[in-house]
Amino acid sequence: MRRREEETHMAKQSCDRSVAVADHYNRLQEVGLQARSQSPIFYMRNFNNWVKSVLIGEILDQLRRSSPGPVRVLDLGCGKGGDLLKWRRGNISHLVCTDIADVSVDQCRIRFEEMKRKSHNNDIFSAEFITADATKEQLAPRLADPALTFDLCSCQFVVHYSFESRLKAETMLKNATEKLRPGGFFIGTTPDAYELMRRASQSADLSFGNNVFRVQFKSKPPFALFGAEYHFHLEGVVDVPEFMVYFPLMTRMLEKLGMRLVLKSRFSEFFQEKVKDERHSSLLQKMSALEPFPAADGNQATSGNGEYSHVTEGMRP
Ligand code: SAM
Repeated sequence: MRRREEETHMAKQSCDRSVAVADHYNRLQEVGLQARSQSPIFYMRNFNNWVKSVLIGEILDQLRRSSPGPVRVLDLGCGKGGDLLKWRRGNISHLVCTDIADVSVDQCRIRFEEMKRKSHNNDIFSAEFITADATKEQLAPRLADPALTFDLCSCQFVVHYSFESRLKAETMLKNATEKLRPGGFFIGTTPDAYELMRRASQSADLSFGNNVFRVQFKSKPPFALFGAEYHFHLEGVVDVPEFMVYFPLMTRMLEKLGMRLVLKSRFSEFFQEKVKDERHSSLLQKMSALEPFPAADGNQATSGNGEYSHVTEGMRP
């Protein structure tokens, strides 16, 4: 295909993939605490949450040490507001929640209102909610205060959706960073492309997984830098097309946007390092984030993102 035709073809496909992702997350039912504790991915979910709690808690501490003022955060791909409590505990002053899935944004808003209602003296951060496809639309003009700048952008398990095309990835990363103040941070979690490839290449049909999750590649390597698609299924939670993020490429793209890489760590390394800290290890217990081994049914039930994801942190110098 010639370049122009290729781009048109990619744009058509892109459109479909974003719609599929938004539809999927919109249809996802919010289940209660009781149902969550019965889920086969209970420990994996808790472990992922622990990683995010530590990452968010530490970066907020660091921001406070460097400048004691109010902290404004952009939660890019906020989903149903799974991190609201972390922002509350981190004592931030303002939060912008944005996601492509309108049902999720509504649920996030309701969750926030509920939190606010229950809070003593309304001592809770202010928040605004924006439904937008961050790979296609500029977020800055949608802010209530166009002059607002952020101390932190948090993008948890989201950035891989944008690596469908160069344009989409560039747009999302620009949205993530363009309103960061000097000294502000971008933090995120995303599957590790090397690990995905390593595991998939060990099987004849380019797939791997277990009783709760499955990763299936559509085509054989070599993969393009953008649009390297696989399907991710996680029992009862995720069933969507995702795209590999080649980390050196994302680092380069972020550098072009004025960012400097501070940390890249696999979940396993992050765990080994952070669990040495008494505060983090007691949180691990509190959050039931480690599965008793072996699992009751003899299977290793809680594999998924937790096994092959990594954490990243970048700073605007
Ligand atoms: N960050 C939340 C968390 O950690 O609980 C949600 C993570 S969920 C795995 C991925 C989220 O990314 C979904 O809520 C989905 O709707 C959102 N998303 C996917 N593509 C997006 C896009 N192009 N623009 C904005 N949000 C997107």
